[in-house]
Amino acid sequence: MSELLNIKGLKAGIEEKEILHGVDLNVGEGEVHVIMGPNGAGKSTLGSVIIGDPGYEITGGSISFDGEDITGEDTDKIVKKGLFLTFQNPIEISGITLSNFIKTALELHTGERIKLWDFKKKLKETMEVLQMDPSYADRDLNVGFSGGEKKKAEILQLLMLRPKLAILDETDSGLDVDAVHVVSKGVEEYKKQVGGALLIITHSTRILEALKVDRTHVLVDGRIVAEGDAGLIEEINRDGFERFLTA
Ligand code: ADP
Ligand code: MG
Repeated sequence: MSELLNIKGLKAGIEEKEILHGVDLNVGEGEVHVIMGPNGAGKSTLGSVIIGDPGYEITGGSISFDGEDITGEDTDKIVKKGLFLTFQNPIEISGITLSNFIKTALELHTGERIKLWDFKKKLKETMEVLQMDPSYADRDLNVGFSGGEKKKAEILQLLMLRPKLAILDETDSGLDVDAVHVVSKGVEEYKKQVGGALLIITHSTRILEALKVDRTHVLVDGRIVAEGDAGLIEEINRDGFERFLTA
């Protein structure tokens, strides 16, 4: 399996403090990896740093993606190379419709102009898969969307943008059962249609049911403290993080 994401000894944080204290992580093409860890462990920080969030500073180590060093690279360039991150708290933007937002992002990704008719058709089909009312396409991005609708909007972007690697940051948290079902169906669809790799930050197993997990990583206090297969997820759900905290 050829390597897609290769993180070596990554140290990063904000000005006042280091949050990630040397993280190693390798994700191969098309693989499904899960990151678990207690609140405040640095999971979202890791996602933000990989995608090039300028709010974080990289102080050591390296990140390469698809054979290229992307350490400290601009988010635009990283996204264009085929990386995608869903946010734990998606932002609301007034004045940009969901449809326009996705079209602009798609054109940025591909570097080509897309015919409006083709785009609208594809968007409509994809929204049907996610059981989203078509009227959402013309509403301002996330403005007044419920938690579940914001997550669906992110999965819609995932299916439209077709990245090589998608990082899902607790996309399944705080959703009702129906919304979790739709989100996991969307992720399954991404896997089927695109066959891309997934790095899933999660506390629940619902989103993983339809996926084959290749590797699980446990992040505690900015360090990967344990790794295993899907069995490790079950173990954590049964016994909690305690054994990793005292280790
Ligand atoms: P997780 O996603 O695992 O719950 P985070 O990556 O969100 O953890 O946060 C890890 C730690 O870093 C927490 O203590 C959090 O308060 C801190 N942190 C993360 N981002 C920032 C930031 N932009 N400013 C201040 N503290 C931050
Ligand atoms: Mg988080």
